[in-house]
Amino acid sequence: MNPLEVLAGIETQTLQPLAQRTDAEGRFPRETISALGETGLLGLVSAASVGGQGLGLKEAAQVVSRIAQTCPSTAMVVCMHYCATAVLEQFGPESVRRAIANGKHLSTLAFSEADSRSHFWAPTGTARADGSNVVLDARKSWVTSAFEADSYVWSSKPLAAEGASTLWLVDAKSDGLSQPGRFDGLGLRGNASTPITAKDVRIAAGARLGEDGKGFDTMMGVVLPWFSVLSAACSTGLMEGALSRAIGHVSQTRHLHLDSSLADLPTVRAYLAKARIKADMAQALLDDTVAAIGAGRADTMLRVLEVKAAAAESALEVTDIAMRVCGGAAFRKEAGIERLFRDARASSVMAPTSDVLYDFIGKAITGLPLF
Ligand SMILES: Cc1cc2nc3c(=O)[nH]c(=O)nc-3n(C[C@H](O)[C@H](O)[C@H](O)COP(=O)(O)OP(=O)(O)OC[C@H]3O[C@@H](n4cnc5c(N)ncnc54)[C@H](O)[C@@H]3O)c2cc1C
Repeated sequence: MNPLEVLAGIETQTLQPLAQRTDAEGRFPRETISALGETGLLGLVSAASVGGQGLGLKEAAQVVSRIAQTCPSTAMVVCMHYCATAVLEQFGPESVRRAIANGKHLSTLAFSEADSRSHFWAPTGTARADGSNVVLDARKSWVTSAFEADSYVWSSKPLAAEGASTLWLVDAKSDGLSQPGRFDGLGLRGNASTPITAKDVRIAAGARLGEDGKGFDTMMGVVLPWFSVLSAACSTGLMEGALSRAIGHVSQTRHLHLDSSLADLPTVRAYLAKARIKADMAQALLDDTVAAIGAGRADTMLRVLEVKAAAAESALEVTDIAMRVCGGAAFRKEAGIERLFRDARASSVMAPTSDVLYDFIGKAITGLPLF
């Protein structure tokens, strides 16, 4: 399978026609997610042994980036699904892995909590044993695809072991899960990032993902590389989307009385050049991060910490430039630039936030422990 060729058909059928409505109505992109499932793209990173495409982080990043050029809300849904799949491929039951591979199951990460906020590595929600079951209670603050996904990769305090956390597979239809409010955000408006309250949610003790108390290890060893790379891919795609729209606008728009286009203005061209450099630097770092992870290079952790912050902050600058060079026209919804400008804001505050990453990177390069 060539994932980008498969995606090209979905782009014209659902992704492009629905992107503006997804944002305007804050509507979950169900049509595109179904199409991604039917064409094998939701099972992209599932093992071939369970019916998946058996591809990896590099191809996942290409898919997320390409979707983000058109609809970052959809790209973030897919990003979270691939991150959850990476965990489930290691620890999940075969039935769920097969369902994901066959495009019939959407998953996501339910880590962030109201009480520990962006410090996702420190859940305060609890898990307690009750016979052969476990009972979960939590106030999750943000879950992409909340009540749209089929399952959540869920963090809690450990059941009995020492450690910061334990991970669970929670069926999205479990009794006791409720939505305290709907999501009406500035950007990524279509990705259903609502809070979820869990009150006496009963799951089988066997729904644990990995060992009790070892959730932190999975968060750092599996989720962090996948999420950092795919979040960065979302930002690089978003930058390409903003740049191509801005370049299209300044090339076509004319000052008739001067017989020149906006692109004839050196100031406009210089701004676009700076944006191009930012986007290319982020893409180069993203490619190098994927290479570092693939080769198990010594600088892998540093790259993983750098790539999300670099791409998220670059996307803020690039979309700001796209707004500037297109002038008042960029304020109009139909240009699609203000949507990408708003969508770009999310990545820098999604955990680990850029400021937390700066602290981690600073600790790493000065030889201090991260935690
Ligand atoms: C659109 C969207 C989708 C999301 N989807 C998911 C999801 O699917 N699953 C999930 O688990 N979470 C998700 N999140 C939550 C996200 O990962 C963060 O937890 C959340 O955005 C943090 O917001 P907060 O207000 O709780 O941050 P706070 O923790 O209150 O942070 C406020 C500010 O303080 C800064 N700060 C905090 N700690 C430090 C520190 N140690 N050093 C320096 N600065 C610091 C932060 O950088 C930030 O600028 C999503 C968030 C958004 C916006």
